[in-house]
Amino acid sequence: MERTLSIIKPDGVKKNITGEIIRRFETAGLRVAAIKKAHMTKAVAEGFYAVHKGKFFYDELTDFMSEGPVVLMVLEGNDAIALNRKLMGATNFKEADPGTIRADFATSIQFNVVHGSDAPDTAKFEISYFFAETEIF
Ligand code: GDP
Repeated sequence: MERTLSIIKPDGVKKNITGEIIRRFETAGLRVAAIKKAHMTKAVAEGFYAVHKGKFFYDELTDFMSEGPVVLMVLEGNDAIALNRKLMGATNFKEADPGTIRADFATSIQFNVVHGSDAPDTAKFEISYFFAETEIF
């Protein structure tokens, strides 16, 4: 069993496709172990994406992530990190496999609907950034 952090980004929440995205996770065998809606401040978004500090898209990305509410989830399952990334599709939706969330719903490289942890150490950091252990079931 592995855990990963999933975020439905502000563009996904605005599109009203939260249920559709969760259905894809559940159908693929992932379980929602924790879930909540939140509206990040710019500072919280900056801390979350600190790994990208200095990149040309950092300011725009953290503006975007704090412009509206998101849905935060801990997903649990076998190989959850890789499976979630597979369901999401490539960062650039133009390169995402057909049938992936980003291929179906993203509108730009930035407005790409979902976030998913990319490795065990980042998953651990990202889950603890938003959830207490007592909120995960
Ligand atoms: P991810 O792990 O697939 O989300 O991709 P990254 O960790 O590389 O990037 C984090 C997020 O930054 C992406 O999901 C996009 O929303 C955004 N992003 C990545 N590359 C670019 C870019 O070249 N331009 C812009 N505007 N945003 C980007």
